[in-house]
Amino acid sequence: MTERLPASSVNGMQEYRKLLLANKAWAQEKLEIRPDYFLRLKDTQSPAYLWIGCSDSRVPAEDITGTEPGELFVHRNVANLVIHTDINLMSVVEYAVDVLEIRHVIICGHYNCGGVKAAMSRKSYGLINKWLRHIKDVYRNYSRELESFTDPDARFRRLVELNTIEQVRNMAETSIIQKSWLKHGRPWLHGWVYDLYTGLIQELTLIRPGDLPDDIYRYEFSPELP
Ligand SMILES: [Zn+2]
Repeated sequence: MTERLPASSVNGMQEYRKLLLANKAWAQEKLEIRPDYFLRLKDTQSPAYLWIGCSDSRVPAEDITGTEPGELFVHRNVANLVIHTDINLMSVVEYAVDVLEIRHVIICGHYNCGGVKAAMSRKSYGLINKWLRHIKDVYRNYSRELESFTDPDARFRRLVELNTIEQVRNMAETSIIQKSWLKHGRPWLHGWVYDLYTGLIQELTLIRPGDLPDDIYRYEFSPELP
């Protein structure tokens, strides 16, 4: 079976082995600085932050925030979307809020986001059309503002920002967050944007516990109902 594989598969092996070697060096380096670096985290984690970012390889959550293992609980998807029917994300949010008791949810978009760019075009990309459609909805909601930009790059940058702001609102509209606000007065919800050209993060929006932007999304909880 192996001999029928194209020559490029040999390079492929070198490519992935590089990561395993780097891992050994990294673990060694950490132990040299602090002998209990790994042992102190082996049984428990108590991160203060839930990070929801884009899958883009250029936006490594821990690196750009200078955080160590144990500090960030991370979920990433294409264009950092918060969709209420996404069982994967909602499970992450519920676990982070109810069990880990995180105090901040950070939704971080980034300029030059391929997902946002694709959503701005009319090209069909197959299955991911269904995912990107949520960004088209953001575009439609803000079409007047977006179409006032004559520079397409400025429009693109603004849609990245608006998409992030909308995802923070989507997060506030979940019953998971609203219940936690009532019971525990947390978490704070943050919308940030990362600039690939400068390496810097900029704050776009902040929703404090209890500050739901639109009342129609506010749930009234009773002891009997979930
Ligand atoms: Zn992206």
